[in-house]
Amino acid sequence: TSPENVPEVSDASRVLHRVFGYTSFREGQQEIIEHVVAGRDALVLMPTGGGKSLCYQIPALVREGVGVVVSPLIALMQDQVDALTALGVRAGFLNSTQDHDERRQVESAFLAGELDLLYLAPERLRVESTLRLLDRGAISLFAIDEAHCVAQWGHDFRPDYLALSTLHERWPTVPRIALTATATEATHAEIASRLNLGEARHFVASFDRPNIQYRIEPKNEPRRQLLKLLRTEHPGDAGIVYCLSRASVEKTAAFLAENGFQALPYHAGLDARVRAANQARFLREDGVIMVATIAFGMGIDKPDVRFVAHLDLPKSVEGYYQETGRAGRDGLPSTAWLAYGLQDVVQQRKMIDTSEGDAAHQRRLGSHLDAMLALCEAVECRRVQLLAYFGQRSTACGNCDTCLSPPESWDGTVAAQKLLSTVLRLQRERRQKFGAGQIIDILLGKKTPKVIQHDHASLTVFGVGTELSESEWRGVVRQLLAQGLLTVEGDYGTLVLTDTSAEVLGRQRQVPLRREPERAARAAKAPKA
Ligand code: ADP
Ligand code: ZN
Repeated sequence: TSPENVPEVSDASRVLHRVFGYTSFREGQQEIIEHVVAGRDALVLMPTGGGKSLCYQIPALVREGVGVVVSPLIALMQDQVDALTALGVRAGFLNSTQDHDERRQVESAFLAGELDLLYLAPERLRVESTLRLLDRGAISLFAIDEAHCVAQWGHDFRPDYLALSTLHERWPTVPRIALTATATEATHAEIASRLNLGEARHFVASFDRPNIQYRIEPKNEPRRQLLKLLRTEHPGDAGIVYCLSRASVEKTAAFLAENGFQALPYHAGLDARVRAANQARFLREDGVIMVATIAFGMGIDKPDVRFVAHLDLPKSVEGYYQETGRAGRDGLPSTAWLAYGLQDVVQQRKMIDTSEGDAAHQRRLGSHLDAMLALCEAVECRRVQLLAYFGQRSTACGNCDTCLSPPESWDGTVAAQKLLSTVLRLQRERRQKFGAGQIIDILLGKKTPKVIQHDHASLTVFGVGTELSESEWRGVVRQLLAQGLLTVEGDYGTLVLTDTSAEVLGRQRQVPLRREPERAARAAKAPKA
């Protein structure tokens, strides 16, 4: 510190070089660090890998006292503290994994002013003895990491985070910095209000991750599709494969292992020791593929994750962005690949319909799913659409599937009318609702046992859709869902018309659709007349 004991910017640069060994700040870091060093509150939104940690670690080293870091990532605290210790930073943590003695040691180091950084699990701050401990030491700042955990209906909500709103009342002069890689306007606002950060300056970095190539394709034989991706583009690479259920995590990990990959499962149903061992192998060994539910990944700092594959549809664009963001932290080319199908939509609608919470909550989940579907069925640049979701404007990227091989569009109005009128007829004339499979069989004129049983061959629409294949019809259904012209409900994913379906049936509305790859290939192969 300078003679007057007022920290200066130059101190921050010096710490950057001397302690962390870096030559320059990354975009946004310096401004944020200066702001916090000056004792002001900040809300930082920066993508994964952007360098959030330095934004509180450097101010904690520059300011007097101990920087208290609230983090939900208990499993990673030891690693974080070890990494800091290796750099000569005096760091410790308090969480439920420690015994009494370990805790006492950290507490006395804190009281003796022998710590620069103290990591705390959020539930510690609900314990009065912890608060009294903090009262007895000198605190330089509070850093609230993964701050989106305070957002009540977000994808990572942690009730313990709600109590963090009181930090300001108890320590009004200690600056607070909240950090997250989640970026929608709604989430910012919720974080600011729940954490009582009304005065905080917001720092919003660009959320673009130019080295990640985004690709989304229809799901046919997901494991085969995944295998092809890994064999042709990512042999020997480390990556993460996300599945929705524990069962499919297990099956997929076994499938990849049978095919010669080092694939390990990770989900909340596994024994904690197995999980920790698998995570450690993923972090320390080369070329390990983690097959996981979304329980895996938050806070994992592995720079060379070359691909993130989703075998099931994420529940929201925010979730998708977070999960894919774990690829390519080192800035090298990486792939974000997702396979999705109608069944995903059916399954997620069902989960929403049966979820706890009031109607408003269900509507909100529904709109998250709709936004995710719209991204999947995007005809234009995926990145433009992804960033637009976070309120950031950009131009076509040249590094996503829709930029690299732009989908052709075709006028799907007549196809949409055929499909919607089949749904309408069944509902009006027979008081019946069916899922996509039966509707498509009717359009294709297939006399399946179920068609015969329900006498669907006598419908006037029977066999009127033979110009498209079954998978093309599935594509039509998915796109109608994405455009809000159709919806699914119930246990069996029955198709139901929406308020806007009538506009198509009444010919007031055109329906542009994207050509499925299969159809595009066939169109290309067909001899030119
Ligand atoms: P985030 O928490 O935003 O995901 P981290 O703080 O873990 O990101 O930083 C990501 C990686 O970038 C880390 O390996 C970190 O050491 C590195 N890093 C951060 N800031 C800089 C910098 N100014 N110069 C070089 N590397 C940096
Ligand atoms: Zn693009």
